[in-house]
Amino acid sequence: MEIQTSDVTGSVMNGAGVAPDTNDSAQGRSLRVALGKIRITAIKSHVLQYDLDDELGYSQQYYTKRTAHLVEVQTDAGITGWGECFGGGAIAFANKTIVERVIAPMIVGDDALDREVIWHKVYNLLRDHGQKGMPIQSLSGVDIALWDIAGKAQGVPVWKLLGGAFRERIPAYGYGMMLQRKDDLAERFAAESARIKDAGFGAMKMKIGLGPKRDIQLVEAVRKSIGDDIDLMVDANHAYTTREAIPLGRALEELGVYWFEEPVAPEDRQGYRDLCTALDLNIAGGEAEFTRWGFRDLIEGRCVDILQPEVCALGGISEYQKVLALAQAHFVPVVNHVWGSAVAVGTNLHLLAALPDFPGAAHPVQPMLEYDTTPNRFREELLQEPLRINEQVAENGGTVAIPTAPGLGVDPDLKFIKHFEVN
Ligand code: CA
Repeated sequence: MEIQTSDVTGSVMNGAGVAPDTNDSAQGRSLRVALGKIRITAIKSHVLQYDLDDELGYSQQYYTKRTAHLVEVQTDAGITGWGECFGGGAIAFANKTIVERVIAPMIVGDDALDREVIWHKVYNLLRDHGQKGMPIQSLSGVDIALWDIAGKAQGVPVWKLLGGAFRERIPAYGYGMMLQRKDDLAERFAAESARIKDAGFGAMKMKIGLGPKRDIQLVEAVRKSIGDDIDLMVDANHAYTTREAIPLGRALEELGVYWFEEPVAPEDRQGYRDLCTALDLNIAGGEAEFTRWGFRDLIEGRCVDILQPEVCALGGISEYQKVLALAQAHFVPVVNHVWGSAVAVGTNLHLLAALPDFPGAAHPVQPMLEYDTTPNRFREELLQEPLRINEQVAENGGTVAIPTAPGLGVDPDLKFIKHFEVN
């Protein structure tokens, strides 16, 4: 595979953020890059928000605001890195405080290339105050930005830093059919699923969690609309007990559902295990788990058939690598959870490019990019160079090309950020 990348100087000059010191020659910068001295000078957190036209929901809540939480790490080399923290709505404001007032003072002045050292320094200082949830979501955005910086400093895409690409294209599945408080939801789901299929996606995912009877009606409506030759996944966002989820899962098997996502609460490890034993369809989960230690118990316990790590929550790219190794050691397939702005989508394209086939074969099952098809301006309009996922899916048989720009290739339009930023 031939993939062009720009040189170090080009990537530095293209970095959005602090302008390089005019006394600092390109040669001098390259040398400092070679010596690994790119000091972090500032860390900013941007919470973007706007009102949705229509309320959207999942089994836990309905919401009317679209939120994105971006992290900007500036350096003295003129390279700026971008990351994203999982957690919408009011959670984003709590995470912004953690990024700017807890994590930033720990690491401003450190070498941005020391990602592993920084991760452990921050985690060790946060451990006594939260080993899961918001502190780790906040660390995730910072770590992702440091990988962006490392790629830009070396002039290579992040997947190259991760060891290279196993594929040139990634199949995408369309996620949509979120819950709405409408009487004609089944008709709406039928129409929306047809639109996702017509858009070129080879698989799709819908929300459930309105009670088993209503869920089955919704899945029947979608299956009837899209036919039998397309993979369909369902996501309950842990709305059920195991006792409720087993008969529901049997009905979903009848409807040819490929995976049943988050059927029960993430803490209910025994429930997950029982479902894997009782049902033939795949049990998926993991988006609400954090760090290698959380995933160790989920994976070693054989709690899921398909693992869904969320890089913007679990601890960033550095920690994702450890989780991936654990999954591979136990032969648990990985299909990343993807949610949020174009920064999160772009980050996942690198991870999916660098995801080995496992167990490995001449014609291996390919990983999939989860792609939200519900309205989101932070996904479609944020970047200087848009990812053009919808266009690619339509033009290339439901697949997306891996990125080739240095770093993550997700530099936002700063004017767009300014317009939507709320404090
Ligand atoms: Ca989910």
